[in-house]
Amino acid sequence: MDKTKIETLIEEVPKVLFINGQWQEADGGKQTEVINPATGQVIAHVANAGEKETEQAITAAEKAFPKWSGLTADERGAWLHKMADAIRGAAKDLAVVMTIEQGKPLNQAEAEILSGAACLDWNAEEVKRLKGETIPGPTGELLLVQHEPLGVVAAITPWNFPSAMITRKMAPAIAVGNTVVLKPSPETPLSALALMALFDKIGLPAGVVNIVTGDAKAIGGVLTADNRVRKLTFTGSTAVGKMLFAQSADTVKKLSLELGGHAPFIVFEDANVDKVVADLVAAKFRNNGQVCTSPNRIFVHESIQATFTEKLVSAVEQVKIANGLDENASAGPLIREDAIEKIDKQLDDAKGKGAKILSGGERLTGAEFDDGYFYKPTVITGITKEMAIFYEETFGPVLPIITFNEDDEVIEAANDTLYGLASYFYTNDIGRIAEVGRRLQYGMVGVNSINISYPQTPFGGVKHSGFGRENGAQGLSDYIQVKFLNITYKK
Ligand code: NAD
Repeated sequence: MDKTKIETLIEEVPKVLFINGQWQEADGGKQTEVINPATGQVIAHVANAGEKETEQAITAAEKAFPKWSGLTADERGAWLHKMADAIRGAAKDLAVVMTIEQGKPLNQAEAEILSGAACLDWNAEEVKRLKGETIPGPTGELLLVQHEPLGVVAAITPWNFPSAMITRKMAPAIAVGNTVVLKPSPETPLSALALMALFDKIGLPAGVVNIVTGDAKAIGGVLTADNRVRKLTFTGSTAVGKMLFAQSADTVKKLSLELGGHAPFIVFEDANVDKVVADLVAAKFRNNGQVCTSPNRIFVHESIQATFTEKLVSAVEQVKIANGLDENASAGPLIREDAIEKIDKQLDDAKGKGAKILSGGERLTGAEFDDGYFYKPTVITGITKEMAIFYEETFGPVLPIITFNEDDEVIEAANDTLYGLASYFYTNDIGRIAEVGRRLQYGMVGVNSINISYPQTPFGGVKHSGFGRENGAQGLSDYIQVKFLNITYKK
C-alpha cells in the first residue's frame, strides 16, 4: 500500500479527547506515543488525560442522558443504523489504521470493523423488542415491570480487538438510552478515536459518547469512584478486571467483566482430522493467538495423536507471518516485546519439564522482522499439568498438545482451570456431544465449530473469565435496570 496514503490516514485521525461533542487536548497538552508493532516505529502521539478530563467526560455524559434516554427506541435505533452505515463506508480506511497500530492483517481488521457495524444494526432493532410486563395482581391494581437505562456507562477496552470491543459495548448501552465514557487501550487509541470522529461527523448528539485516552489508573480511579457512573463494562485481563470489580464496590455499580480465557480444544477419536486441523489453525492464528477465545490447550485422543500432529505441523508451517499490510499475511506481529518474553518463558518451562517443540519455538528474525515483535507459529507436544502453559493464558501463536484416553479424563482436565470463557470439541457421536456439552464449565462451547461470536448470541464467561454477556438479547439486558410499578387506579 502507498506509504503516503497510510500516513494521511493516520494523520487524519484526531489525537485528542472527545468530550461533550468537542475535541480537546489533555490538560497541559500531555501526550503518549502509539507504536506500530510490526516496525517498532512511533506512528502518533495522542492526548494523555487523567482525573480532571475524566470528570469532565462524566459530566458531559450525565448532561446528555435525559435527552438521549427520552428519545424513542425507534429514534435511537435510527442513530445506531447511521453509525453502522458510517462505519461500513469507512471500513477500508479504519482497517488500515487498525493494522498500523495493532498489527493484525488488513482483512482481519476489516472483518472486525464490519462486525461492529453488524452489532450496531442488530442492537438498533433489538431495542425495539425490549418489552416489559403487565402482571395480574392479587387485588386488581395494575402491576407493571418496565425497563430503564442505567445512566452513565463507563467502558474500558483492550487492544486485541480495538474496534469491536468498543462497538459491542457502546451499541447496547446507547441503544437502550445510556450515555458512555470510553477509555480505550493505550496501545490502540487511534481505532477508537477514528470511530468517534465518524460519530461526530454524522452529528451524534453531544455527550452521548465521550472518549478519554491516557493514564489508565487515574481514569479508572475516577470512573469507578464516581457515583454518577452507574455501570462499568470492562474487557481485559482477569487481574485488572478483579481490581476494577473491587474498586467499584463502594459506588455499588452494575458490572460486566469480560476477562481472560484458556480455551480447551478437544479432538475425540471419531473426529474428521482434516476439518479439525483446518479449524484449529484458523482459530489459533486469528489475530495471532491474541484472542480471549483462542484455543490454548489442545487435547487429542491418543489413538489419533500421531496423524493429527503430523497434519497440524504441516498446516502450521503454511501460516505466513508478516506485516499486516502484506496481503498474503495470515498473521502479524505480537503487540509488545513482553508478549514474546511471556511465550519464551512458558516454552522454556515446558521444555525443561519434558515437552518437545515440533515446529517454531522462537522469535522470527531477519530484516523484515527485527524491529517488530514477530514469533514463529509453534507446536509443542507432551504438555502436562506440571507445566505453567497448562494453567496460564498464552496470548500468542502457540499450540500445546496434550493427549488423553478417556472422556471423563479429558472433561476433568479441560475444566481444571480458573477460566471459563470459550471451549471447543470435535466428535460425531451425538451422545457424547450432549454429555460433554453439558459438563464443560464454559460460557461458550463450539461443537465441531470455531464460530462462537455473533451479534445475535450471548458472548461471555463463567468463573474467573467474568460475568455479564455481550451481544444477543442477554447483552442488551445487561444495560438496563428493572422497575416495578403498582398503579392503583380504583377510587
Ligand atoms: P489489560 O487488562 O491490561 O487492559 C485492558 C484495559 O484496561 C486497557 O484499556 C487498559 O489500559 C485498562 N487498564 C489497565 N490497568 C487499569 C487500571 N488500573 N484502571 C483502569 N483501567 C486499566 O488487558 P489487555 O492486555 O489490553 O487485553 C488482553 C486481555 O484481555 C487478555 O487477558 C484477554 O483474554 C482479555 N480479553 C477478554 C475478552 C473477553 O471478551 N472475555 C476479549 C478480549 C480480551
